[in-house]
Amino acid sequence: MTLALHNTLTRRVEPFAPLAPPRVTLYTCGPTVWNFAHLGNFRTFLFEDLLRRYLEYSGYDVFHIMNLTDVDDRTIKAAAGAGKLLGEHTAPFVQAFFEDRDYLRIKPAHAYPRATESIAAMVRLVERLLERGVAYKGDDGSIYFAIAKFPGYGRLSRLDTRELKVGARVASDEYAKDDPRDFALWKKAEPADEQVGAAWDAPFGRGRPGWHLECSAMSLEQIAKCCGTTTLDIHAGGVDLVFPHHEDEIAQSEAATAQPFARHWLHGEFLNVRGTKMSKRFGNFLTARDLREQGVDAAAVRLLFWQTHYRKALDFTDEALTGAGAGVRRLGEFRARLLGEREKGKGEGEGKLAGLATKFETDFRAALDDDLNAPRACAALFQLVHDGNAALDVGAPGAAVALTVLDRAMEVLDVLPTAKRLDAELRRWIQDRLAARDKARKAKDFKEADRIRAELAARGVEIEDTPSGTKWRLV
Ligand code: AMP
Ligand code: ZN
Repeated sequence: MTLALHNTLTRRVEPFAPLAPPRVTLYTCGPTVWNFAHLGNFRTFLFEDLLRRYLEYSGYDVFHIMNLTDVDDRTIKAAAGAGKLLGEHTAPFVQAFFEDRDYLRIKPAHAYPRATESIAAMVRLVERLLERGVAYKGDDGSIYFAIAKFPGYGRLSRLDTRELKVGARVASDEYAKDDPRDFALWKKAEPADEQVGAAWDAPFGRGRPGWHLECSAMSLEQIAKCCGTTTLDIHAGGVDLVFPHHEDEIAQSEAATAQPFARHWLHGEFLNVRGTKMSKRFGNFLTARDLREQGVDAAAVRLLFWQTHYRKALDFTDEALTGAGAGVRRLGEFRARLLGEREKGKGEGEGKLAGLATKFETDFRAALDDDLNAPRACAALFQLVHDGNAALDVGAPGAAVALTVLDRAMEVLDVLPTAKRLDAELRRWIQDRLAARDKARKAKDFKEADRIRAELAARGVEIEDTPSGTKWRLV
């Protein structure tokens, strides 16, 4: 079996083959940093984390780009409402996003281009589209993309022309455009934009980028820089981005480069609350920090999300989260048992447990190869826990192999309880540092002792000297 992924372009599950293996270029639309990202946003980012991790597990060398939308209608409005400049308003939300990402154990992308720091690339892209005659200046001074000049428009979203027209007519600035379906690439600077510092000079007039333009410019700039290409292997996002955002990204990018923009499009379904999309607008949202403050183990959130396929809507309930938490603890206990057996030196070699683990790994891969079927991968995992516990009860050998296989699967799912993630390696490192500090203190080298304390603190280890020795804990 090889990896097959659903492609929104064809509406089919297709074998995945990157342009230049083993490299995979992956672009995922990032958060709009006008406020805290909610758990719905993070369902999409977690599905993308699963994708990224499984590509890596499968031997690919992934270059992952996630943009930060730090200038758009919402960020400008929010900054004005707070009486701040755009950058002042968005900075803490960027910071919060990274903290939430780490809490949820999402692997950091290799590049986080920010819209406000990529204006030059956006201006160049608009100039190119103007030169090619697919963009024009409207009566209102904004620059628009001429959909009629791009025959492929609508291929991704499969909306027919009639539907597109109905949608676009709602826009209030329709009078300024040649065709009501055309969308803004560059919006002429308004006093409200100037007030928060969201306006830039450009040869075609002072203004600010449209949201769709931002993603085209940032993705093209980043893949040119990292990989010397103009075509992404994978572009992903939430299902609400198919139209118009991704449709418009394709139009702008392909009209500029004359090359396919992305070969594989993946879209994750919504996180709902009682059947309604989780959204700031509906007030039915929960943030990652809410959960963290409630002491929820991030592993439970991950497991909860993995238990529904990414192309199916998921209804968030407290009961389901609690259930996932129990699963996470069971898994942690199972791993602790395997570890205990191995440390006793009893778990070496082949045996019943090794056999179970090998079967699990085959099922796990087959499930994820099949369009990231994480629910099936989790079912295989808990089958291993069930059968493995029974084998441990009767003292079956093979724990060392099972532990290795389990840890390999955790590189993808990463659902062990937070406390159990403290692996043997970190423990050894802490012991080593504590011994070095003890030695320094005995030699009255307090400067070195303090330096080691800081080194430990940098990895979240807090220490306390007691009459019975130095105690440590993770903070
Ligand atoms: P935004 O910060 O609004 O630009 O959205 C960031 C990402 O979150 C996009 O990929 C959206 O498609 C996605 N998203 C927004 N709401 C939800 C939801 N309720 N469930 C899943 N994904 C969502
Ligand atoms: Zn985007």
